[in-house]
Amino acid sequence: MKGAAWLLEPGDASSMLTPERLSDEHRLIAQTAEEFVNGELLPAIDRLENKDWELARSLVRRGGELGLLGISVPEEYGGLDLDKASSLVVVERIARSASFATTFGGQANLSILPLVLFGTAAQKEKYLPRLVTGELVGAYALSESGSGSDALAAKTRATKQDDGSWVLNGEKMWISNGGFADLIIVFAKVDGEQFTAFIVERAFPGVSSGKEEHKMGLHGSSTTPIILQDARVPADNVLGEIGKGHKVALNTLNYGRFSLGAMCVGGCRGAIGDSVKYSAQRRQFGQPIAGFGAIKHKVGEMIARTYAVESLTYRIAGLIDDTLAGAPRDGAAIARAFEEFAVEASIGKVVGSETLDYVLDENVQIHGGNGFVKDYTAERYYRDARVNRIFEGTNEINRMLIPGMLIRRALKGELALIPAAKQLQDELLSPSAPTAGFGESEPLDDELRAIGAFKKVALTILGTAMQTYGEKLTDEQEVLGYAADIVCDIYAGESAVLRARQAIADRHPQASLHEAAARVFVNDAAQRVEGGARNALAAMAEGDTLRTLLAALRRVMKITPVNTVALRRTLADAATAKGGYILN
Ligand SMILES: Cc1cc2nc3c(=O)[nH]c(=O)nc-3n(C[C@H](O)[C@H](O)[C@H](O)COP(=O)(O)OP(=O)(O)OC[C@H]3O[C@@H](n4cnc5c(N)ncnc54)[C@H](O)[C@@H]3O)c2cc1C
Repeated sequence: MKGAAWLLEPGDASSMLTPERLSDEHRLIAQTAEEFVNGELLPAIDRLENKDWELARSLVRRGGELGLLGISVPEEYGGLDLDKASSLVVVERIARSASFATTFGGQANLSILPLVLFGTAAQKEKYLPRLVTGELVGAYALSESGSGSDALAAKTRATKQDDGSWVLNGEKMWISNGGFADLIIVFAKVDGEQFTAFIVERAFPGVSSGKEEHKMGLHGSSTTPIILQDARVPADNVLGEIGKGHKVALNTLNYGRFSLGAMCVGGCRGAIGDSVKYSAQRRQFGQPIAGFGAIKHKVGEMIARTYAVESLTYRIAGLIDDTLAGAPRDGAAIARAFEEFAVEASIGKVVGSETLDYVLDENVQIHGGNGFVKDYTAERYYRDARVNRIFEGTNEINRMLIPGMLIRRALKGELALIPAAKQLQDELLSPSAPTAGFGESEPLDDELRAIGAFKKVALTILGTAMQTYGEKLTDEQEVLGYAADIVCDIYAGESAVLRARQAIADRHPQASLHEAAARVFVNDAAQRVEGGARNALAAMAEGDTLRTLLAALRRVMKITPVNTVALRRTLADAATAKGGYILN
């Protein structure tokens, strides 16, 4: 299936990658990462939080020794050349330390990956083997104090010298691994105009780090400015083409966003484990707090939301891997596959980071006063996670990208969104329009029909927005935001339902819990989708037109609520009995 086709067609459970369908090889890699995290990373967290960068470097090297840095790297450069599902199971586990996950991401996703995608054979040969072993630590310097979201407005300047080499001047801001990275992917404008990526070694003259930032969280991750003062960069160190730095930046971020979503899943799972263990042993009013409905509601909701984002993350990994299977193993083919699923990656980033913030907020709440003090991990997790909504493209920027990319593809004729929206409009505005129709007994049929209804709503909003605003649609961020949220709920909800159906078909021992999580998610998504659609339609139409559109919306969204109180209790009780997240 091509990227975003799921918006127009029903999804297919049989071909979808899920945690239940990982191979033995994936499970072995996951186990290696898990042992590294439990045995070496978690015991080192306090020292990392005190900015022991030698320790951070040695943990990067250890990750290299275990093969965790070279998963996406061709074997000829020292890597393992494995699929994206393998990367996913690793980052989910590394996420137990958000600080080290940032260090790790700075290396694997932001330094190694752009070299794999855009490096020349000589550049790959020179740098990749030492990055893969962790001998070199990498960083990625795109942002500047005046250009974060608007990254292409960078002021750092590159000037070509007579001998073909470059001189770079400028200051990059908030660079992860900035205090100790050996190799930095720096973005600068050639003659102040052509945005270009350069491979910059710290050892080059004129390269230095500024002071460590004092951050809200991620204290165990180095974040500094990178200062380039007449920095000398050899001619051979342009990465990609001159004037095509945006390709390097955007393709790197396409993958980084998917990976960040996967890290968030790992964080959610860990926090659910902490919450259920704490709530089982903490007694108030003569009983464990786990027995109270209010706590079960929180835990059940944490699980349902985590299940949805986990399902969509695995689905994306499977889609990228299917696209790459049999394709040439060159950087351009990999970059094309990431671009194909850029909408999905943005969804993973937005839904992942916001689910994690929800889960960690409730984790603090379940810990009560202990959630607010440093003796417990809940407060650190809460602080550490906040930046996920800010970096790798803020969630506002990603929310604009999601409908923006869909509409661009529709206008290019790559996605049949416009005819589908038109046909739907005619159908909905006729009085005999079909309703979602519920009441059958096959497991999750109702939920699948609800997802079908959400898709109709998304098409109606996108179609009406394109008609109403035309080329000025990009100015209507609030409407685009509602559309993005509906699209996110479609992808997350459908991924959860397809996975649960797969679990039922495969007679998975936890199938009933999968079903419960999917039903809770879709039930609550229906309320969000309807609310968002009402607000968006009211912004675009008025009078009789608005009333007709709202009547059509009500017909489409005639969805009977399910007893989510009982379903959440089932999920919470199962997690409490297990002492952790139940669905993986
Ligand atoms: C801990 C940490 C680590 C980081 N690591 C790196 C790194 O390794 N490499 C790197 O290059 N950068 C890194 N960054 C920088 C990060 O990517 C930027 O902070 C981020 O892109 C946002 O840019 P900004 O801070 O300039 O915010 P701004 O762009 O000024 O945004 C401020 C607010 O305005 C909103 N906004 C901006 N433009 C629009 C718009 N067009 N429409 C709607 N809303 C808008 C944003 O969503 C946000 O809410 C890091 C940041 C932090 C905090």
